[in-house]
Amino acid sequence: MTTSPHNETFWDQRETFSRDQLESYQLAALKRQLGYVGANSVYYQKKFAEVGFKPGDFNGFEDLKRLPLTKKVDYVAALSNDPPFGDFLAVDRENLARIHFSSGTSAKPAPQFWSARDLERWADLYARYAYAQGVRRGDIFQCLFTYSWFVGGLGATAGYQRLGAAVIPAGSQDTERQIRTMFEFGSTVICGTPSFMVYLGEVAKKLGYDPADSKVHSIMVGGEPGGNIPATRQRIEKLWDARCYDAYGSLEFQTIGFDCPERQGPHVAEDFVYAEVLDAKTGNDVADGEPGVLVLTHLDKEAGPLVRWWTGDVVVRDQSPCSCGRTHARLLGGVKGRADDMLIVRGVNVFPSAVEEIVRGTDGFLNEYRLIVDDSVRDPDSGLLKGIRIQAEVEDGADQDALSAVLAAAIKEKLNIRATVQAMPQGSLPRTEHKASRLVVQP
Ligand SMILES: [Zn+2]
Repeated sequence: MTTSPHNETFWDQRETFSRDQLESYQLAALKRQLGYVGANSVYYQKKFAEVGFKPGDFNGFEDLKRLPLTKKVDYVAALSNDPPFGDFLAVDRENLARIHFSSGTSAKPAPQFWSARDLERWADLYARYAYAQGVRRGDIFQCLFTYSWFVGGLGATAGYQRLGAAVIPAGSQDTERQIRTMFEFGSTVICGTPSFMVYLGEVAKKLGYDPADSKVHSIMVGGEPGGNIPATRQRIEKLWDARCYDAYGSLEFQTIGFDCPERQGPHVAEDFVYAEVLDAKTGNDVADGEPGVLVLTHLDKEAGPLVRWWTGDVVVRDQSPCSCGRTHARLLGGVKGRADDMLIVRGVNVFPSAVEEIVRGTDGFLNEYRLIVDDSVRDPDSGLLKGIRIQAEVEDGADQDALSAVLAAAIKEKLNIRATVQAMPQGSLPRTEHKASRLVVQP
């Protein structure tokens, strides 16, 4: 992959293709990619044969619909066919350059694969995002994504390096040292999970530094929702006096999308993936503006290509042009949540991110909260949810009972569901330096 020519505003000319140009590009790429997949992926050779699909006959996007969806369960099952690499690896062992693993705590971690060319492509996409977010040569990028068993740290490092920034590969531990380094060396760009960016700011204040006085001007967050939850983003921006941008990726599709300066939801890198948005139950296409599950097909992946991958992420797509000049579709408001995490409370669909928006937007509440599903909110007969239970930290000295009532009322008003709120003293909930798990489901 050669470096794409970039100008003052856009890293890659493909970001501003007209929709017609983009479609032609995608069609040609899909035809090439399906040919490659059919020749090299044992898993897809079987699947294509099962439905009588010949890649050479591919003529339009509708032909893709003949192929089955690929779900995580299919992926894991295919690992046992030829362990430990499985049926998805589509390059020779000599051309395998990187293996990352899923972060599943209960299931056996599943591997994903990259060739050297795949890694180049990944770095170039990351550079594209950083460039859109105002990062340039001369910036000092302190990477606070963890490097341990997680794709984010190395991915971001390679991307910012490619762009020409100086990288401090710091990881997500040693919080005090992070802050001292940041102030001593004048780091201008940081990245990490939204929870960690807030936590880091809080610790900085305790150490006598004001994060708003740091040289940080751009913060990229990812790994969990938050960058597109307005109240969370505002909290980070106020704390750091910097612009906060969301990055959207997954282990299987490093990386999918990014916030542009307009921040109306991340742009999907449509020259890297072909995206479908499908109804979670019927699997039919949903229209722009309607929620559905994002399904992705790699357009030029070598080592571990995926076709019609069910991300499980619920999104609302908008394919109209963005005022930033980019034409790639946006996911309005970011990822709404995991299709699996959606709670149904008395018939109302509730994503944890909607609850977060209200907690973070209510005065007196701090960053930490948990959403608990247990028997106290389940109907004993049907098992269906009657409401939700929330534990959330409040400022020192606050009237906990009064704040609990305020938050419960706000949730009732905005989501029309009943919430049992337990305001907690600052510091009482477990902290996280990596991905926060805010939804706690007790069987
Ligand atoms: Zn834009």
